[in-house]
Amino acid sequence: MRIYLDNAATTPLDKEVFDAMTPYLLNHYGNPSSHHEQGRQARQAIEDCRATIAGLLNASPQEIIFTSGGTEADNTAILSAVYAEGVSHVITTRFEHHAVLHTLIDLQAKGHIKLSFIEHDEKGNLDLAHLELLLQSHSRSLVSVMHANNEVGNLNDIEVIGELCEKYNALFHTDTVQTIGHYRHDLQKLKVHFLAASAHKFHGPKGIGFLFCRKGVKLSRLIHGGGQEGRLRAGTENIHGIIGLTQALQLAYAHLDEHQQQIQNLKNYLIERLLDEVPEVSFNANSANAEKSLYTVLSVAFPALHNEPGLLRCLDEQQISVSGGSACSTGSASHVLQALGADEDKQHIRFSFSKFNTKAEIDLVIGVLQQIYQSVAA
Ligand code: PLP
Repeated sequence: MRIYLDNAATTPLDKEVFDAMTPYLLNHYGNPSSHHEQGRQARQAIEDCRATIAGLLNASPQEIIFTSGGTEADNTAILSAVYAEGVSHVITTRFEHHAVLHTLIDLQAKGHIKLSFIEHDEKGNLDLAHLELLLQSHSRSLVSVMHANNEVGNLNDIEVIGELCEKYNALFHTDTVQTIGHYRHDLQKLKVHFLAASAHKFHGPKGIGFLFCRKGVKLSRLIHGGGQEGRLRAGTENIHGIIGLTQALQLAYAHLDEHQQQIQNLKNYLIERLLDEVPEVSFNANSANAEKSLYTVLSVAFPALHNEPGLLRCLDEQQISVSGGSACSTGSASHVLQALGADEDKQHIRFSFSKFNTKAEIDLVIGVLQQIYQSVAA
């Protein structure tokens, strides 16, 4: 049986989520914009979901806009800040997902914004004094800082960053794609203007997510067409996706503490066993620090393997799905590991866990790693 430890890439759909979705694929197929009963029922289902999500996050339903996922939510937030709110200076980090970084670099190349990067230390901790200096240099900036990094798991203090943004009249966008459904977010307390989420990172379906946009902040339409989503996001709604997203978030919240503990224990167990049984392992950034990293992600630097095909392929051949992350120049260099100055000769592997993983799977992974490194040493 294959072992799946790539949950930061995507999580398996929960059976309960699937069961909630199927009636909306087979029976309740009305278009929410239709004026007959089937349309009205579909519209009501969507509005109920919006209210449920808003309730979980302590937001208002009008502040939740359904999107095709995290990428669209991030793009919409940034383009809205620039085109609708008139921001021309954006402050971000070298660790953002490409959904953010490529959008910002494109805006900079077009001459629409000046882009500044917050300095960081060798572990990827952001220098908030530098952020404050950058905020002081412009009358109104957009700050785009992710809650947690998808490659190394570093958590950023979005509460403190939100306070700083408020102090300097800046807009704050945070990519919470890796943390929604894994941590609680109280949007009455968090000083954030835009927040992006994606269902497939918490056992929901792919192709659906949402943008939180605080009341009063102007949005720019990314997709033109019909009047859906309060005229903010055109296109017939992905109703089964919205149902799945909502069911997944409700389930996540219902068991959040229990799953957090279970997954953190698995991560701690993998750390312990790696340190004890695999030679010369180290952990990238804050990955092994329970306070400063996502409990779902462990990024490990293994000793170099001088034989092809590399550790990721070896693990895949042994039925273990993980992700790589390479600071080398093999064509798929990780911008995150490069920004951290990670050792290019090492084999960088991201293990990412879900509630479906077990201790027995970690034991099997350790056994495979021992075999690989014993055969190299032999
Ligand atoms: N932001 C982060 C931090 C992510 O990890 C991902 C997905 O890998 C995205 C954005 C993009 O989300 P989606 O796949 O829903 O477009």
